[in-house]
Amino acid sequence: MPSSLSTLRKQYALRSTRQQLLAQALDLLRNFLLLLFLLKYTRKTFRHLRGYGILGSLRLLYRDTYKRLYGVFLGLPFVKERVKADVDKAVKELEAKLVPSGPGVVRHRTLPVEGWSAEQVREELEKLGGMPHTRWEDGRVSGAVYHGGTELSDLQAEAFKKFGVSNPIHPDVFPGVRKMEAEVVAMTLGLFHAPEGGGAGVTTSGGTESILMAVLAARQKGYAERGVREPEMVIPETAHTAFRKAGEYFQIKVHLAPCPAPSYKVHLPSVRRLLNPNTILLVGSAPNFPHGIIDDIPALSRLALAHTRGGTPLHVDCCLGSFLTPMLARAGLPCPQFDFALPGVTSLSVDTHKYGFAPKGNSVVLYRSQALRRYQYYICPDWSGGVYASPGLAGSRPGALIAGCWASLMKTGESGYLATCLSIITARQELETAIRSNPILSQSLTVIGNPLVSVLAFRARPNPPQSLFQLDIYDVADAMSAKGWHLNALQDPPAMHIAVTLPIVPVVHELIKDLEAVVEACRGKGRGGDGGKQGDAAALYGVAGALPDKRVVRELAGGFLDTLYLA
Ligand SMILES: *Cc1c(COP(=O)(O)O)cnc(C)c1O
Repeated sequence: MPSSLSTLRKQYALRSTRQQLLAQALDLLRNFLLLLFLLKYTRKTFRHLRGYGILGSLRLLYRDTYKRLYGVFLGLPFVKERVKADVDKAVKELEAKLVPSGPGVVRHRTLPVEGWSAEQVREELEKLGGMPHTRWEDGRVSGAVYHGGTELSDLQAEAFKKFGVSNPIHPDVFPGVRKMEAEVVAMTLGLFHAPEGGGAGVTTSGGTESILMAVLAARQKGYAERGVREPEMVIPETAHTAFRKAGEYFQIKVHLAPCPAPSYKVHLPSVRRLLNPNTILLVGSAPNFPHGIIDDIPALSRLALAHTRGGTPLHVDCCLGSFLTPMLARAGLPCPQFDFALPGVTSLSVDTHKYGFAPKGNSVVLYRSQALRRYQYYICPDWSGGVYASPGLAGSRPGALIAGCWASLMKTGESGYLATCLSIITARQELETAIRSNPILSQSLTVIGNPLVSVLAFRARPNPPQSLFQLDIYDVADAMSAKGWHLNALQDPPAMHIAVTLPIVPVVHELIKDLEAVVEACRGKGRGGDGGKQGDAAALYGVAGALPDKRVVRELAGGFLDTLYLA
C-alpha cells in the first residue's frame, strides 16, 4: 500500500510539473501571438504614418470621424425619411427626363407573339435612332463619340456583317478573327515601343476591362512571386475610376496620391511615401480623364524600378490617349516619354474605341512581357465541360467588333492618325488660347495645368479682376447644356472639361462664342446664384461637394441606374 501511495504522489507531482510546463508554453504562445498581432498593427500604423504623414493621418482621422458622426445623423429616423423623400423626388425628375411617356409612346415589354416583318423592325429602328438627343453629329458632345467619319463607319458595318456570328473562342471555326485580333495587338504594340519580340497583349471590350485585367495581372504576379497577400496599389487621385473598381472587385487597397496645382500631375514624394512591400502596382495616366494631364511617367518609371528587386509593375493608362498620345511626338508636338520606351513601364491600356476610331466595345491591354500577360489568363483544367482557357473576363467575345477594329486601323493607317492628331490638337489649342487670352473668358476662367492632348479643363478664376463676382463653374456647365452642348462637369476641384473629338473640330469657334456668352451671363449672377432655378450640375455638385458622407449621392446614382432599366 505505502509504495503505491508514494507512486501516486510521484505521479501527481509529475503531472503538476507537466501541467505547469504546459501552462508556461501556452503563456509563451499567447505572448508570441500578441507580439505578432502588435507587430502587424505597428507595421500597418507605421506604413500609414509614412504614407500620409502625421498631419495627413490626423486629417484623415478627422474626416473619417466627421463622416461617421454625419452617418449617424443621416441614420436618425426623421432625417432618413426626409433624405429618402428628397432622393425619390430627384429620381422621379430624372425619370421624367430619361424615359419618354405620354399617350404617343408604345412600350414593348413582352415579346411580340408573331415576329415583326423586317420592314417593321427597320421602321422602328429608324424612329429609335431619331429620338430627340444631344447632337453629337453636330459636334455638340465632349468626348463620348469618337467618330472617324462616315466612310469608316460604313466599312465597319460591312465588317460586322461579315463577322456577325464569329467568336474568337473558336479559333478553328473563325481563323480570320484570330488573325485579326493578333494583328490589332501587334500593331498597337508597335505604336507604344514594345521591346523587340517581347511585348504581348489582349483585346478587350473597353478601357475598364483593360484596366481590370492589368490590375489583376499585377495582383497575381505580386502573390505568385512575392507572396503578397494584402495587396495595395498607388494611383494618382485623377486616375480613372476603373482602378478603384478593380480595387473593389479584386480586394486591393487603393492609395490615392494627390495631384496638386499648378501642374496637376501626381505628386511624386507622396507616391514614394505610399509605396511599401505590399504594393503590387503603381499607376500613371497619359493623359488622365478629368484634366487631360500626362503624369510624370519617366519619374514613376524610376520609382517603380527602384522599389522592389526586379521592379514593381507600373501601368500607364493611355485609354483616352489611345492613338493620339503616341502620335504627338511623331507630329512634332511636345510630349514626354510615357510608353514601353521607359524601362519601368510594364503595362498599358489603349482604347482603340476612342481615338483609334474603332467601333465601341474595343480596347487593348498591352504587357511588356508574355510572362506578365500569363497572369491575366483564366485556365480551368478539370471542368466537366472540357479543359477551359480564356484570356480575360469574357468567355465568348464578339468577333464582329474585332473585325471592325482591324478594319478601322487598316483604313486609317499611320498617316490618318497623324492627320487627325494634328486637327484635334489644333482645335484644343484654339480653345485653350481663347480661355487664356480672350478678355471675357480669361477674366473669369482659368485653364487647369498644361494639357498636351485632347482634353481641356478649366475652373472659375478664384480672384477675378475688376470686382467681378467669382463664377460658379456649374452654372456655366448648366448654361452650356441649355445651349445644346454636352460638356463634362468635374469635382474636387469644381471644374469642367471638353474632350475634343473629330466632330467638334469644325464647330470649335461656335463653342468659344457660346462659352463667351454664357460666362458673361453667369458673371452677373455671382457665386451661389441669384435665387433662380439651379441647373442639374449646380444642384448635384452643390450638394455632393458639401456632403462629408456620400451616401445620398450613392442613393441618387443608384436611382439613376435603376431608371435606365424602366422599359
Ligand atoms: C475612357 C477612359 C478609360 C476607360 O473607360 P471605358 O469607358 O471603360 O472605355 C480609362 N481611362 C481613361 C483616362 C479614360 O478616359
